[in-house]
Amino acid sequence: DDRWKEAVDGHRGGIDLLLRWVGVEGLSHNRITAALWSRVQERMLAVEGELISRDGRLGGRVDLLLNEVDDNGQTVAWVVADLKTGRTPEGKLKPEVDRQLRFYRDLLLANNPDAPNVRAEGWYTLNRTTWRASNDAVLEDAYVAWEATQPTEVPLEPTPGPNSCGGFCDWKAWCGHWLRWRRDSGRLDEGDFRDAVVRVVRRPAGSSSVEVERLLPGEGPGDVVDGGGRCSMLFVGSALEKLEALMDEDAAAPFFVGSALAKGHQWRVGDWCDVLPWTPHAV
Ligand code: SF4
Repeated sequence: DDRWKEAVDGHRGGIDLLLRWVGVEGLSHNRITAALWSRVQERMLAVEGELISRDGRLGGRVDLLLNEVDDNGQTVAWVVADLKTGRTPEGKLKPEVDRQLRFYRDLLLANNPDAPNVRAEGWYTLNRTTWRASNDAVLEDAYVAWEATQPTEVPLEPTPGPNSCGGFCDWKAWCGHWLRWRRDSGRLDEGDFRDAVVRVVRRPAGSSSVEVERLLPGEGPGDVVDGGGRCSMLFVGSALEKLEALMDEDAAAPFFVGSALAKGHQWRVGDWCDVLPWTPHAV
């Protein structure tokens, strides 16, 4: 099918680029000899080479590290080549690809202070073109990004809004902001699939239908109070198991229900829903 043809063509494109690297252009692949391919391999310093910064913080995997030589076979440069099978650039490399290539180049240089000239290129197999990365150094930014990934005790700034708290966010059960934002923006009852913080008011023995009180934001961050009204919820599948586990722990504790189907008189809470203890930390 088309994807297979694309894959084969990409593979052939990579071979064409490597042949060009040793000065051979337009050779039919069935005429590649063992000696010619050895020449190609001799010029490869690393294939799928792992690159880790000396402090272990930054890392990546380089498709190819190639040795560029002069007429006497002396090394004049190392070339980091990243094989790209996607669309070829229009005029210049996309910023994220350019950044990735510069990152490999600068990491290689940082680990090998005695390296010859190093440049980085994107090798696009679709039309057999190579694109050189720009010169700007990138490691400083990479370390800033690394620092930003480190967990701290300080919660991130909340970003309440219709596309964050109002949409899919996996952190609602731990976040003290979204419920207040929903209430204040009048969106507690928006849509067929709803989130809520509830506590069980009544559950007939063994029943999967429970009556809950919907809770509203209280005074302090993450506090909840009664007042959102009562409704019936039907728990099925894994949601029922989660409800039972929560009630075994503390039958009166508030918990978070995410994406319950709120059509009709009874909300349905099933395998697609989150049923989690309400433990907001972000303040
Ligand atoms: S629910 Fe909390 S964590 Fe999620 S987007 Fe809203 S503020 Fe951010």
